[in-house]
Amino acid sequence: MKILTIVGARPQFIKSAVVSRAIQTLAPHVQEYLLHTGQHYDSNMSKVFFEEMAIREPDLNLGIGGASHGESTGRMIEGVEKVLLEQNPDWVIVYGDTNSTLAGALAAVKIGIPVAHIEAGLRSFNRRMPEEINRVLTDHAADLLFTPTATATTNLENEGILEARIRQSGDVMYDAVIFFGDKALKNSLILERLALKPQEYILATIHRAENTDQKDHMKAILSGFRASGVSIVWPVHPRTRQRLNDYEFTVPGNVLVIDPVGYMDMSMLVQNAKMVVTDSGGLQKEAYWYRVPCGTVRSETEWVELVDAGCSQLIGVDPSSIANYLNDTHDVSPDAWVGGIFGDGTAGESIVRTITSV
Ligand code: UDP
Repeated sequence: MKILTIVGARPQFIKSAVVSRAIQTLAPHVQEYLLHTGQHYDSNMSKVFFEEMAIREPDLNLGIGGASHGESTGRMIEGVEKVLLEQNPDWVIVYGDTNSTLAGALAAVKIGIPVAHIEAGLRSFNRRMPEEINRVLTDHAADLLFTPTATATTNLENEGILEARIRQSGDVMYDAVIFFGDKALKNSLILERLALKPQEYILATIHRAENTDQKDHMKAILSGFRASGVSIVWPVHPRTRQRLNDYEFTVPGNVLVIDPVGYMDMSMLVQNAKMVVTDSGGLQKEAYWYRVPCGTVRSETEWVELVDAGCSQLIGVDPSSIANYLNDTHDVSPDAWVGGIFGDGTAGESIVRTITSV
């Protein structure tokens, strides 16, 4: 059996590391071909994850990054199709909600190769998000849909997707946290490098286009950070850095801006943060798994269970609500953190068992 895995962006490297490891342990007879679209190409957005998470070198990198949505998605479909015709895999695996996900799914289904979508069923119900369009279209194209949560499963059922195509596997990012969390605590030196003390800083990330590409959103976020007066560490995504330069904004003095970091350093930073403030999907969940309160700088989230549990809060993009959140103590009840929302940490294994047995 041959599986062709398509990755392109940071969170996909993390998710695929889990599934590739499960393939190697549970199904060593399966040949995995790893195709990188090139969507994320900076070393600290791509290479570092391959090194740290022991992901083998991609078999091919299409080198398609940096263009507009239409151009890059179109070029990826063309590039992926060529590779699929050459490799003729039994399954294609795509992850999440990026242009690489959609391009991979479309290229495969059009030539009759079955597609497994990992992290299926997420919905923000905000059709202006490019990720939402990618998710909906990929879910409807895919043959097997692996959902991380019960809400994701319900979302698919509500859209009329046949139950037989859906498997609630749990979240592969939870598997990654279980596998790498303690290793990060032992190995990462980022706190020393940045002279940070546990519980004395807040970790921020901002990269959603709905924030970065709207000048008033970026202005509100910086004003909120400034008004809070608290110590913030902010690994800045390349797109965000570009926008900050375009808008000629200055980052407030209480914010330590750093380049994007690898998974181990990020894990260390989350585990020791007093709180997290972010518009990232993955980081909202990691904050929860490490029991760190999370303020989400958006007006909706795909991870509604975390808000319902009281662990995360939607704080919107308003300077005073951001500053208020950052100055609050957030006494989350200890019971709120235990819920089995994302499965039991064996999502990767369950996915591989399913794909290799259908
Ligand atoms: N992450 C990282 N280094 C950083 C910022 C994020 O390793 O500098 C990790 C983060 O811990 C999480 C993943 O990247 O595992 C989330 O990816 P991102 O926020 O880019 O995408 P999203 O989850 O919003 O799709």
